[in-house]
Amino acid sequence: MAVSHPRSRSAASTSRPDRQPGAHRRLPSDVLEGQGVGSEEAYDLITSELLLDGSARLNLATFVTTSMPERAAKLMADTADKNIIDKDEYPQTAEIERRCVNILSRLWHAPEGDVATGCSTTGSSEAVMLAAMALKWRWRKARQAAGKPADRPNLVTGANVQVCWEKFCRYWEVEPRLVPLEGDRLHLTGEEAVKYCDENTIGVAAVLGSTFDGSYEPVSEIAASLDDLQARTGFDIPLHVDAASGGFVAPFLSPDLQWDFRVPRVASINSSGHKYGLVYPGVGWVIWREPAALPQELIFDVNYLGGHMPTFSLNFSRPGSEVVAQYYMFASLGFEGFRQVQGQSQAVAAYLADSIAQIGPYQLVSSGRELPVFAFGLKPEVDRYSVFDVSERLRERGWQVPAYTYPANREDLAVLRIVVRSGMSFDMADSLLEDLREKTKELDSLPERLPEHLRANKRAFSH
Ligand SMILES: *Cc1c(COP(=O)(O)O)cnc(C)c1O
Repeated sequence: MAVSHPRSRSAASTSRPDRQPGAHRRLPSDVLEGQGVGSEEAYDLITSELLLDGSARLNLATFVTTSMPERAAKLMADTADKNIIDKDEYPQTAEIERRCVNILSRLWHAPEGDVATGCSTTGSSEAVMLAAMALKWRWRKARQAAGKPADRPNLVTGANVQVCWEKFCRYWEVEPRLVPLEGDRLHLTGEEAVKYCDENTIGVAAVLGSTFDGSYEPVSEIAASLDDLQARTGFDIPLHVDAASGGFVAPFLSPDLQWDFRVPRVASINSSGHKYGLVYPGVGWVIWREPAALPQELIFDVNYLGGHMPTFSLNFSRPGSEVVAQYYMFASLGFEGFRQVQGQSQAVAAYLADSIAQIGPYQLVSSGRELPVFAFGLKPEVDRYSVFDVSERLRERGWQVPAYTYPANREDLAVLRIVVRSGMSFDMADSLLEDLREKTKELDSLPERLPEHLRANKRAFSH
């Protein structure tokens, strides 16, 4: 686990060769060395060491941006010293953040004329924490005003949600109600969601789209079921849309899809600027429909940086360069540019999905036509090898294509997933297909089932 690091063995040794005078210096591992290696050597050594990381371009596992225009990277380096929280020192960066919030709130159809309400965050995880806290606070206030107990909040999502929702529930003591998947239903639906709602439900979260297969949950259908629930029971349950990826895809590629503030029950939306927002990690966004959706008690006013500044965040200091880079992408691409970039990714994803469906043993779980992301499994008759074996063999060629099983109640469904991001060309897709065909042929030619000790380990989904 990342939070407890085993000490490297060399730390225990008192006679490291680099302690000899004149010997080649090494990078510190566990102890801050008395003497540094010097700035040039540190640069060389660290750069060499980082070559051991995978090649980001061949990583088809991550949703996070791995290539940006050179100018954007320069702009980020130029603005790395700006602290986003210090709005007094950096008022123009604050203004740029405000513009981004306005742009997103328009893009997601927040009611015209209202003040745009939202902020940048460190990715969708922090954005979800803030949005879900607002849900919890609103629910508690309403319960208290009605003289009812407010000690057993719950939150309803599909079992396919990203781990940040389970984190929120554990950290903020809210009961997670994860609606299990069933048969071909691999994400949340309205009909199922309302079965899990009651007077203690602080909100329902719908995902656009699912990290498991890129599919969009039916936001307007879930909202309609919640409208119906309210008519029957009086429970007025807000809907949040976790559009970590879809928030930067659907507005450009599915402009008629009703998933955003056009649906009156949608109270807030988050998205990751560092996914299809096309910015390097980590920037995210959270936007509320209107100021009233964000309880004022959550906003702190700080005056110690000079001036009075309202802040709503879990972090305090963080780089302003992320927000500047987001603004750069908006300014340089415009709506049409975003539509082209995402359209290209979707075309490559659809091409890959259709081609993979033609390779004998595979069957598609999704087709890359919502998010440019799709999952595919093996046909039931394939029993000599598993998706985990396919994943491992692709890795031998440098491709990272993760394999995992679905959550409850479809733990039996094991898939591979491909995330197509900006920078993946048709030529790269063809190389991947060639490697996949070759590796599949090898696996298909096995005379019998792979023996247990040669099989790749089965893995549950890890985000
Ligand atoms: C990636 C993702 C998150 C978490 O986003 P970060 O920006 O990595 O913190 C949350 N929800 C969904 C649906 C995601 O895809």
